[in-house]
Amino acid sequence: MKKVLILGSTGSIGVNSLEVIKRLKDNFKVTGLTANSNIAILLEQVKEFNPEVVAVRDENSAAIIKDKLPPGCDLLVGDKGLIEAAAKADFDIFMGAMVGFAGLLPTIEAIKRGKRIALANKETLVVAGELVTDLCRENNSEIIPVDSEHSAIYQCLIGEKLEEVEKLILTASGGPFLNKEKSFFAKATVNEALNHPNWKMGNKISIDSATMMNKGLEVIEARWLFGLPTEKIDVVIHPQSIIHSMVQFVDGSVKAQLGLPDMKLPIQYALTFPERIVTEFERTNLPNIGSLTFFEPDAEKFECLKLAFDALNTGGTAPCILNAANEVAVDKFLKKEIMFSHIPLLINKALDKVKNSVTPDLGTIFECDRQTRELVRELS
Ligand code: NAD
Ligand code: MG
Repeated sequence: MKKVLILGSTGSIGVNSLEVIKRLKDNFKVTGLTANSNIAILLEQVKEFNPEVVAVRDENSAAIIKDKLPPGCDLLVGDKGLIEAAAKADFDIFMGAMVGFAGLLPTIEAIKRGKRIALANKETLVVAGELVTDLCRENNSEIIPVDSEHSAIYQCLIGEKLEEVEKLILTASGGPFLNKEKSFFAKATVNEALNHPNWKMGNKISIDSATMMNKGLEVIEARWLFGLPTEKIDVVIHPQSIIHSMVQFVDGSVKAQLGLPDMKLPIQYALTFPERIVTEFERTNLPNIGSLTFFEPDAEKFECLKLAFDALNTGGTAPCILNAANEVAVDKFLKKEIMFSHIPLLINKALDKVKNSVTPDLGTIFECDRQTRELVRELS
C-alpha cells in the first residue's frame, strides 16, 4: 500500500488523481490533501478519503474548515502549511498538482526526503530546473512526469540509451486559436481562450495553451527532465492530441506513445510505474479516429513559444522571469485587465528589464520571481 500526498487536490489534476486512486484503493491510500481556498470540494474529499493531514493556503478558508474536519485530521495553514505538509506528512508519493511558482518549495521539501515526485506542476522545473534535478540526484528522489507529453517521452525512453536519442518531438494541439489569424488576438475573449478543443483543464494552463506558452514551458520542462539540450527538442502541431509525444533515435527510428486525451492515464502511470495496472478507460480506436495530422508551429503568430525557447537558450533566471511574467499577465487577462495579444508583450518587457542571474541559487530565484511580478503588475 503506497501513501500519497496530493498538493492542489481540488484542481483538475488533483480531482483526476483522486479518481484514479479511488479505483486503485487496494494499492494507494491518500494521507494528505491541500488546496488554496476551495474548501467545499476539499471537505467532500476529506470525507471520502479520510486523510491524516489537510493544508489550506488561504487563511480565511482555513478558519472556516477548522471545526469541520474529522477527529485525527490535522490542519496546516498558509504557504508554510503546504511546505510543512511536504516536509513532515507521512507519504511515499508526492503528487504535485498545484499550479504555478507556488509549487516550488513544497516540491523541494518532498525531494529532500527522497520521495517519488509525480509532477504535473511544470512551473517548478521551468523556474528552477537545474537546482531541482540536482537535488533529486543528491537525495535519490525520482520525478515521474504527469504532463502527458513528458509521460509519453518517459515511456518511449524505457530500455533506450540517452546518447542514442536524436531528438524529442513534443506534440501540441495548437489550442483553441490554432486556425485564427494573429489579428484576432487583440479581440479574443476570456471564454474563447478558455475553450480548449481537446482538454478540460484549470484556467491558467488553458490560457497558456491558447498562447502556446504551455508548449514553451513544456520544452523547458523536457530539457530538465530528460537532460537534453534545446537543439534536441522540437515541437510539432498535432490537433487531435492522440500522439502525446515522440522520441527520434540516431538510426532514424521514431517511437511514439498514443492515447485518448485523458489525464487519468499519465496520472496513473506516474503512481504505478514501473507497473501497469488494468484500467477500464476507453481505448484508442484508430479506425474511429481516422486521421492524425501534423504541422509546423507558427512561431510568428504564437510569440510565447518563441519567447520560451529564447529564455531557455539564455538560461540563468530568464525562464524564471518568463514564468513569473506569464503568471501575472495571464491573471491580468483572466481579470479582463489586458488584451490577449498583450500577454507576450508584457513577458517580453519583463525579459528586457529584469536582470538575469547566470547561476541562481534558490534565494536568487525567489527574488527574481518577486521583482518580475512587481514589474509586470504595473504594466498594461
Ligand atoms: P487548477 O487551477 O485546476 O488547480 C490548481 C490547484 O492548485 C487547486 O487545487 C488550487 O487550490 C491549488 N492552488 C492554486 N494556487 C495555489 C497556491 N498559490 N498555493 C497552493 N495551492 C494553490 O490547475 P490544473 O489544471 O489542475 O493544473 C495544475 C498543474 O498541472 C499546473 O502546473 C498545470 O500546468 C499542470 N498540468 C495540468 C494539466 C491538466 O490537464 N489540467 C495537464 C498537464 C499539466
Ligand atoms: Mg502537457
